[in-house]
Amino acid sequence: MKTSKDQRQKVRYSFLKILTGSDLSRRRLPFMAIESVNPGPVVWLTGCIHGDEVTGIVTIQEVFKKIQKQPLRKGTLYAFPLMNPIGFEAGSRNITISREDLNRSFPGSKNGSLAERIADKIFTTIEQTKPTLILDLHNDWMKSIPYTVIDPDPGQAHKQAYDKAKAAAEKSGFLVIIETEEIRRSFTYNLLAHNIPALTIELGESYVVNETNVQYGVKSILNILNYLEMFENKDEPFIFEVPDKIKRKPLKFASEPVSSASGIIRFLASPGDIVKKGHAVAKIYNTFGKLQDTVVCLHDGIILGHSDSSVAYPGAPIMAFGVT
Ligand SMILES: [Zn+2]
Repeated sequence: MKTSKDQRQKVRYSFLKILTGSDLSRRRLPFMAIESVNPGPVVWLTGCIHGDEVTGIVTIQEVFKKIQKQPLRKGTLYAFPLMNPIGFEAGSRNITISREDLNRSFPGSKNGSLAERIADKIFTTIEQTKPTLILDLHNDWMKSIPYTVIDPDPGQAHKQAYDKAKAAAEKSGFLVIIETEEIRRSFTYNLLAHNIPALTIELGESYVVNETNVQYGVKSILNILNYLEMFENKDEPFIFEVPDKIKRKPLKFASEPVSSASGIIRFLASPGDIVKKGHAVAKIYNTFGKLQDTVVCLHDGIILGHSDSSVAYPGAPIMAFGVT
């Protein structure tokens, strides 16, 4: 536990127990909190649910450092910076012991699998704080641009939470991408289903800390805290620049077109490029250099990222798009 000398807010670093290992080591979830003396919104920052997605950990640390220098105006900021420490240490997306994806294990269960038990601990802890907003930090392919993602509209029953998440996403400074697939066991899907506003921030490449993306992430979070009147952002509002040709309104996520053939991919366009329907974005060649497929855009939009691998096979998603 750590407490700040500042009279206006209290800083706490502590742990939640998740598992005792076979060598009797205690595995714990690091927990961080900054509580203003003035009541206000309750925001959670969460990182590294996928063990190889490390930028969120550092982004959270930097936001906390910033707020220790310039206190919150009101409210509480909580964080689980490292939700999957077991995967992190192995450089793995999943919880390596049980080979499970923690972000497909929510809302979790006290008596379930290892991932479900950890998910339950995370979920119940967050729910008890009656949160205003959860910002879940992820990473993407190596060259992906940063962007914000919201789950598909969960319908009338959860409209309030969804509208709040969408309003916060629009203040993030990033392009807002609407997920089209319902990922029913993901963290954010279940938060929205429990009427808790939640959104995902994708901060570029996985595996290593990309300092530029950390800066974008910190600025984006401060934009949102400023919007919630928790933090007075003295800097200009952050906007991630994208070509003017794309309108700054929510776009739909698309992982299609996919490759129709096996072979080696040669990309004809890069993340951040604006594309038109019918625009060729990749060619797939066989091992003798014979063209097998030209991958052509199905919609107008922007390229969010492309695969880290040059291996194509039929049905392989090789690019991600935000489409109009
Ligand atoms: Zn992820």
